[in-house]
Amino acid sequence: MDLFGQMANYDYGEVHVARDQASSLRAIVAIHDTRLGPSLGGCRFLYYEKEEAGFVDALRLARGMTYKAALAGVEHGGGKSVLLKPRGHFDRSALFRAFGEFVEKLGGRYITAEDSGTGLEDMEVIRQVTKHVTGVGVDNGGSGDPSPFTALGVRRGIEACAKAKLGRVDLSGLHIVVQGIGHVGYYLCKELHDKGVSLTVADVDPLKAERAQREFGAKIVPLEHIFDEECDVIAPCALGSALNDETIPRLRCKIVAGAANNQLAEPRHGDALYQRGILYAPDYAINAGGLINVAQEVKGYDAEESRRRTMNIYDTILEIAERSVRAAAPTYRIADTMVEERLSKAAKGR
Ligand code: NAD
Repeated sequence: MDLFGQMANYDYGEVHVARDQASSLRAIVAIHDTRLGPSLGGCRFLYYEKEEAGFVDALRLARGMTYKAALAGVEHGGGKSVLLKPRGHFDRSALFRAFGEFVEKLGGRYITAEDSGTGLEDMEVIRQVTKHVTGVGVDNGGSGDPSPFTALGVRRGIEACAKAKLGRVDLSGLHIVVQGIGHVGYYLCKELHDKGVSLTVADVDPLKAERAQREFGAKIVPLEHIFDEECDVIAPCALGSALNDETIPRLRCKIVAGAANNQLAEPRHGDALYQRGILYAPDYAINAGGLINVAQEVKGYDAEESRRRTMNIYDTILEIAERSVRAAAPTYRIADTMVEERLSKAAKGR
């Protein structure tokens, strides 16, 4: 593996690794940037065919966290940890305890949280040995499920897009298509229904789509037709890469604004949306509500403050949309530029 080459590709100065024979721990902690504050980001616990894939995942995801935190106004840098899941038998508590000890040794430069393959119980184990962990249970002063906050932020982002693109001050009467009615998609439908939006939905799990139909009067369409629906807004809330060579030419909407991470299959798809005159709300800018909520835990959890800060996603998305028009440039590039501006300002302020 070209370790330092990969670090250079992703613009890194610092990656930590730990191995513990007794618990089978093999952990990578990538700290991308600490100019705005200690790095914060989830802990993945997955099988990786090759160690290199886990290493690159940590690098890629931690850099994404730097961008998300900077735009959200959260005083944290980007970090991420990847634990290579052992193939044979292992003691889960012992492994997460050993990981917690590793996090503790980093002295607060990295704060961990839940991610794919980890849950509340793992965070509770980590918490026994370090305070540098978020996403613990509400009973222990934690912030609980981030999805309602993510959904609130997405709704605010859609409102900003509607203002910028359609000149609308509210969402009443708009037709919005939501792909994926999981944790965030469900709460988003609820937020939008409360604002008088008419909804169309699709989910691979028919029960989830039917719940949205029952509770919010949503129309259900087959999965393969979701990107053909004529509507004001499409909100991708399922998996990544929803916006690609196959889907973008089919879109019959004015705005794309949803919760999913990595919506653009490649950066050039952000250009394709711009050329089609579709306003795209950059994913990491609009879906930061969950991060804002979890970051609040570090200071002492306050749900009202989380909500207030999440509401501000409106201003961020509006600024991106307006600058995109002024600069005649796609929104994803404007968002990246705003991140660079904030990071270099923070660096100068030190
Ligand atoms: P989830 O797994 O609860 O929901 C995803 C839903 O999408 C599921 O109901 C699944 O059945 C459905 N789905 C999968 N493939 C589909 C397809 N091809 N067509 C239609 N539906 C499909 O996940 P979530 O927590 O709701 O997160 C949704 C997205 O938002 C993910 O990309 C996630 O990374 C991102 N995100 C979530 C949060 C959060 O707070 N949970 C925060 C930021 C970003």
